[in-house]
Amino acid sequence: MNLPLSERMPVLERWVSGPRFGAIPLPDHSAPAPALSFEFFPPKTEALETQLWACIRRLETLQPRFVSVTYGAGGSTQARTHATVIRLVEETALTPAAHLTCVGATRAEVDEVAARYWAGGVRHIVALRGDLPEGQSDVGADGYQSAAELVEGLKKIADFEISVSAYPEVHPRAASAEADLDNLKRKLDAGATRAITQYFFDSTVYLRFLDRCLAAGITAPIVPGIMPVTNFTQAARFSAMCGTSVPDWMGVMFEGLDADPETRRMVSVVMAAEQVRLLQANGVDEFHFYTLNRPDLTYAIAHVLGVRPKAEQPTA
Ligand code: FAD
Repeated sequence: MNLPLSERMPVLERWVSGPRFGAIPLPDHSAPAPALSFEFFPPKTEALETQLWACIRRLETLQPRFVSVTYGAGGSTQARTHATVIRLVEETALTPAAHLTCVGATRAEVDEVAARYWAGGVRHIVALRGDLPEGQSDVGADGYQSAAELVEGLKKIADFEISVSAYPEVHPRAASAEADLDNLKRKLDAGATRAITQYFFDSTVYLRFLDRCLAAGITAPIVPGIMPVTNFTQAARFSAMCGTSVPDWMGVMFEGLDADPETRRMVSVVMAAEQVRLLQANGVDEFHFYTLNRPDLTYAIAHVLGVRPKAEQPTA
């Protein structure tokens, strides 16, 4: 009979008989702390607005390189995104980046939004194609046809700093991985200076993607988008839509915790901290966090990365 290893071997012998793994190397503390950016979404209600601003105030102390605010494709959050971004300009020391999508709007409409941002003191745009809701017709003939065209258009309006998206696991609607990579290169060639990735859980996929980017002649930073997950069921559903693979081990990590949010949060920090430490050990020193307007997980993971508050009192 084939007895399990645990019954065939004395405990200590079993412990020393397996392969040995080294720890993830500790970061070099003499090197500068990584550069971070934080992403928020515009609030729909007053209660959510209060939550967002508490989140912004807490994360502001970490002096991120920039903070970005998402935009509903087709302009569905136009006013709320604009109001949040302008308040960031007027009331904080942060550098805001406004997300801007081009589907469902004419070039003139998109240009007008961008020009208003420039006039309001906003110098950084995250330029995106966007997705229209199911059933709605796609980009009209008088609209920007892709994010690459949008980047070109924005550069004609003003000298914005422009970030774009990248997909380590390939955009679900891309014709092929090569076409997706060509598209990324077009966006950077058109004037974007950085890409921020779709979130991923398998860091090997991201690291291989960096190799492919470099081989394709891309030199701009492809900043990893980090999503700390606390609601596994929801994250798995959303990941299926945006093409992010969910490794089996993740399901095992959250197994049996549906009714235990506190333990889920702790597991989440451990997982995300392990991910960023692995990326940091592989040389990556810029990170973008999908905060979901909640500061605590991002703050804890930033701390693990060596980022410390620069000033306890944020500006009024
Ligand atoms: P592009 O760079 O133009 O295209 C990316 C790839 O998808 C290309 O390979 C392209 O050929 C293919 N593709 C996209 N759409 C189609 C299509 N209809 N038919 C065929 N091929 C297609 N969405 C929002 O609505 N608001 C946001 O604020 C927002 N922020 C984001 C931030 C980041 C960092 C990322 C990674 C994504 C964000 N998104 C946001 C989601 C994004 O709008 C969608 O993934 C959208 O489908 C593609 O936009 P893009 O700018 O990546 O497109």
